Amino acid sequence: MKAILDHVGIAVGDLPAALAFYRDALGLEIEASEEVASQRVRAHFVPVGQSSLELLEATAPDSPIARYLDQRGPGLHHITLRVDDIRATLAHLTLRGIRLIDAEPRAGAEGALVAFIHPSSAQGVLVEIKQSRVASRKSSVTRYTVGNLELISLCDGFFHLDGGAMFGTVPKTLWEKRTPADARNRITLAMRPLVVRGARTMIIDAGLGDKENEKFNEIYGVERARNLDHTLAEAGLSPDDIEIVLATHLHFDHAGGFTMRDASGRLRPRFPRAQYIVRRGEWEDATHPHERNRASYFLDNYVPLADAGVLQLVDDDQTIMPGVSVRRTGGHTMHHQMAVIESGGRTAAFVADLMPTTAHLGEAWIMGYDLYPMDSLAAKKAFLKEAVEREMLVFFEHDPVVAAGRIAEQNGKRTIRPH
Ligand SMILES: [Zn+2]
Ligand SMILES: [Zn+2]
Repeated sequence: MKAILDHVGIAVGDLPAALAFYRDALGLEIEASEEVASQRVRAHFVPVGQSSLELLEATAPDSPIARYLDQRGPGLHHITLRVDDIRATLAHLTLRGIRLIDAEPRAGAEGALVAFIHPSSAQGVLVEIKQSRVASRKSSVTRYTVGNLELISLCDGFFHLDGGAMFGTVPKTLWEKRTPADARNRITLAMRPLVVRGARTMIIDAGLGDKENEKFNEIYGVERARNLDHTLAEAGLSPDDIEIVLATHLHFDHAGGFTMRDASGRLRPRFPRAQYIVRRGEWEDATHPHERNRASYFLDNYVPLADAGVLQLVDDDQTIMPGVSVRRTGGHTMHHQMAVIESGGRTAAFVADLMPTTAHLGEAWIMGYDLYPMDSLAAKKAFLKEAVEREMLVFFEHDPVVAAGRIAEQNGKRTIRPH
């Protein structure tokens, strides 16, 4: 077994005192902090070479870190070893009689899979085993070439939704093998907007944005310490560079980043030079929500676009810029659309909630959120066939690990080859 020291977790009761030591006295750099809502903890990362120290601060009295501090005071809390295959590691440890706290991996921060080993088997040290889904904390920007278009997959962080709702009629015994749930039965989802650079610079969807309050962020386990602002900058872009914003649909995890509040609290378009393109039927539905879809449509995300005169409604499947066209899928919402990107004989598809993660490859693995699941099924069947035939590069907007891949079919069995 090969393992790398990922980080050392240190329980901190007095953050200013911890910063006075680690930052000021030792002169180490402290990165942006990240709140892990499910653990009621805020982690401050201190990079040290290939690994990091994690200063762990409790955010609520019932946090595991708060209980640790009560019992033992501040100090070394756990060490984390990163492995390639967490399930194989756990199986190996079980065979050797090692006492595990987690027999099955569960969802950790940033889409990682984690499991704890009991200190009684590890000389009194709490050991966490981790399989990173993203190669590293910084790797959420990926570039692809399709003909003469450049595609850049960005990330607006992660959030959590009920696993049952994400897989509809598929039983948990099946879906949890692919996607482990947390203690609240939620699974980790990424938000991955896609930039397309060609004749113009376009972004498709824009993640959640930062207008939501703490209660919302707690319910959805929002992790946006690294978000669209960071990944745009990492891609060498600023919001000013975006000329077209294309919406697949207007749910908050896709359209939240379309608007922002300025210093005076007024809502305005997030991309100041862009035209925003929305399908007319989706606009009508989103501006007249009903009992079943109200929880997903927040007017603040898109009504300011109309007020600012930057909204452009399209009625049919059509070309948005050379090489990029939209195609209605329906299903998830009546007017949900995907983007098809074609150049130089190559094809890519940004399918949004038609197939939100790689775990949704099976034709009947359709979200419970979908308003018209039989339409989802028909659209998905047609799309999968086409994706295999045309060797499409498929983007999975919500997959916590795989930004894009190709779908292969052998002996009637489909698999995804991550790209
Ligand atoms: Zn949606
Ligand atoms: Zn979505």
